[in-house]
Amino acid sequence: MPGHPGHWWLACDVSNYGIACRHCNSGGARYDGVREGRAKGSQFPVIGGTRARASADDLDREQPLLLDPAHHSDPDLLGFDSAGYARRSSTPYSQAEAKRGLCRADETIRILALNDSHLVPLRSRLMRAVGVLARYGDDPAIQQLIDDKVGPKAPYSSAAAMALALQRACDRPAAAPTPAARRPASHPPSTRHAPESTCKTCWNIWTRTT
Ligand SMILES: [Zn+2]
Repeated sequence: MPGHPGHWWLACDVSNYGIACRHCNSGGARYDGVREGRAKGSQFPVIGGTRARASADDLDREQPLLLDPAHHSDPDLLGFDSAGYARRSSTPYSQAEAKRGLCRADETIRILALNDSHLVPLRSRLMRAVGVLARYGDDPAIQQLIDDKVGPKAPYSSAAAMALALQRACDRPAAAPTPAARRPASHPPSTRHAPESTCKTCWNIWTRTT
């Protein structure tokens, strides 16, 4: 289908597809009742490079605007603050971003509406709960509750893991701890590689409608 504006030759390429929830893929987000965010859909905006127009073109020369959760470094460009909002990480802008005056993380948050009125309160409640649990996390039963929330199959587990990291950063003593004060050396499992059951962008369970 030469002349089609999209990547028509990839329509039947399985590797071109990723798991996404309805919110990220199809939209429907609302900010204070106002519909917002186009969602991913079939769009593939680029921020730089050469746009591939045919199967012979080199896809690696495209520089995507939206963050790709399956890319090895893109997930680290997005984080969550303690109020549950998705935020860009404090990483340097790429040359393409500086040239276009755009931030890929900000654009991803805007286009996918990752801070809409539904998602932020859910993340906020979860992050508060994880923070409280983490303050009493030496008990095995409580640690299990934390593990359940930060595990890769849990909804919004990336935000939960961020809350745990924030709480542990607060717990970190300024000076070298005495043996009695040293905390168990346990770390949250990585949630960067979400399983097939969760949206790889917002880490929502993909079957949920948001
Ligand atoms: Zn999603």
